[in-house]
Amino acid sequence: MPALPTRLEQESRTPLDAAIADVVAAGNCSGCGFCVALDGGIEMRSDAAGFARPVRVALSTRDEVEQQAARRRFDAACPGRVLRAQTPTGARRHPTMGPVVQAWAAWAADEEIRHRGSSGGALSALSAWLVETGQVSRIIGARPDSGDPRRTVSVSVRSRADVLESAGSRYAPVATLANPELGSDDAGLAVIAKPCEISALRADRGADAPLLLSFFCAGTPSQRATNRLVEDLGAATPDDLSAMWYRGRGWPGRFTAVSNDGSMVSATYDDSWGAHLGRDLQWRCKICPDGVGESADITAADYWAADENGYPVFAEGDGVSALIARTSRGAEVVARAIAAGVLVAEPLDVDDLARIQPLQRDRRETLLGRTLGQRAAGVRPPRYRGFGLARLALARWRDVIGTARGTFSRVRGGAIR
Ligand SMILES: Cc1cc2nc3c(=O)[nH]c(=O)nc-3n(C[C@H](O)[C@H](O)[C@H](O)COP(=O)(O)OP(=O)(O)OC[C@H]3O[C@@H](n4cnc5c(N)ncnc54)[C@H](O)[C@@H]3O)c2cc1C
Ligand code: SF4
Ligand code: SF4
Repeated sequence: MPALPTRLEQESRTPLDAAIADVVAAGNCSGCGFCVALDGGIEMRSDAAGFARPVRVALSTRDEVEQQAARRRFDAACPGRVLRAQTPTGARRHPTMGPVVQAWAAWAADEEIRHRGSSGGALSALSAWLVETGQVSRIIGARPDSGDPRRTVSVSVRSRADVLESAGSRYAPVATLANPELGSDDAGLAVIAKPCEISALRADRGADAPLLLSFFCAGTPSQRATNRLVEDLGAATPDDLSAMWYRGRGWPGRFTAVSNDGSMVSATYDDSWGAHLGRDLQWRCKICPDGVGESADITAADYWAADENGYPVFAEGDGVSALIARTSRGAEVVARAIAAGVLVAEPLDVDDLARIQPLQRDRRETLLGRTLGQRAAGVRPPRYRGFGLARLALARWRDVIGTARGTFSRVRGGAIR
C-alpha cells in the first residue's frame, strides 16, 4: 500500500511542488539544486539510490503570486524540464562539441595547480588568477566535505589555497545551484559547475549571468558507488577517512582514499571510473544532450592522447585540458589569462577533440533513440531544443533504432531512478 502523504506534503503542495514531483518521478532530475533557490522550504537530500533530490522540509512562505512566479522560472530553467542549445554571437556551431568562439589545448603555468587539477588544471588556474587579482570576489566550486571526505559539497573559493582544495573532478552528487551564495546579488561572482547546472543558470539569468565555467561531463555517479569503492579497496577506516580524491595529482591520477591512521588505498582512473563509478549513473545523465557545457562562457575537457583507433589513452602524464570559449566574454578572459602567463596554450582543432571524446559524441548522435524509447515506454523526457538531434540521428539510424529498443526495454524494466 502506498505511504499516506505527511501533513507537510498535504499542506504544502504549491505549483512548484507539483512540477518538481513530475520531473523527479520521470527520472529527469539532474540534482542541480536550482529549485531550492526558488523556495526556501525546499532542500536537496540524498535519496535511497544515493542521488541528490529536492525535498520539501518546511511550508512555503511565498504568497500565491510568488508561487506562480517561482513555477514559471522553474518551467523555463529546470534542466529536467527543458534544455536549449546556445549559439552566442560570434560562435560557430560544432555538431557534437557545441558553440565555439575559440579553442585551445591549455594547462596551468603554475606547476602545483597543473598537478592538482583534473587534467591540465586550467579551470583552477583561471580561478586562482580571477580571485587573486580581484577580478571576481569568489568562485562557486566543489570540494570534499571536511566531516566526511567521501561526500562532496559546494563551496565559495576566495584564494589560491581554496582553489587547491577544490581542484579536481568529484564523481558524486553535489547540487551546486543550492549554494546559498547564488542569490540575487551575484556581483563579483563566477561559477564552476556541471553543464546541466550551468544551463539552468543561463536560462534563468541570460546575459546577466555571472561568468560561467564548466567542464565536459559523462554523468553523476551515485554516492553509494563512491562508498562501495572505498570499501572494496579495503580502506582501513572507510567511514572515517582523512582525505579522498577521485583523480588529479597526476593525469589522470588515481582514485585515492586516506584512512585516519594514515594508510592509503587507490585505484587507476580506468578501474575506478570504468568498473565502478561510471556504472552507477543517474538516469538523467543517460539522456543528457549537453555533456559539453554549451551554456558556459568557458568549458574545459580532458585532452587525452589517442590510440591508433582514435580512442583515448589514459597513460599517466602531465595534464592537458581542452579549453573552449563559448562566448566572446569567455574568449576575452582566456586571452588575458594567456597574456598574463597564467595559462600555457596552443590552438586546438575542435574536430580533434570530438575524436577523443567518444562518449560525448555517441551520446548526442544516438540520443534521439533514447528519448523516443523513453517516450514509447510512457515516460516523458525533458524538452531538448536546438541540439540538431534528428539530423545527427539520420546519419546513424541503425544505432538509433537499436538504442530506442534498448531504452524502451530498460525503462519498462524499471531502470529509471
Ligand atoms: C561528473 C564529471 C564527469 C566528467 N566527465 C568528463 C567527460 O566525459 N569528458 C572529459 O573530458 N572530462 C570529463 N570530466 C573531467 C573534466 O572535464 C575535467 O575536470 C576538466 O578537464 C577540467 O579539468 P581542469 O584540470 O581544467 O579542472 P580543475 O582545475 O581540476 O578544476 C575542476 C573544477 O571543477 C569543479 N568540480 C569538480 N567536480 C565537480 C562536480 N561534481 N560538480 C561541480 N563542480 C565540480 C572543481 O571544484 C574545480 O573547480 C568530468 C568531470 C566530472 C566532475
Ligand atoms: S533538475 Fe534541478 S531544478 Fe529540476 S527538479 Fe531536479 S534539482 Fe530541481
Ligand atoms: S551528464 Fe548531463 S545531466 Fe548528468 S550531471 Fe552531467 S551535465 Fe548534468
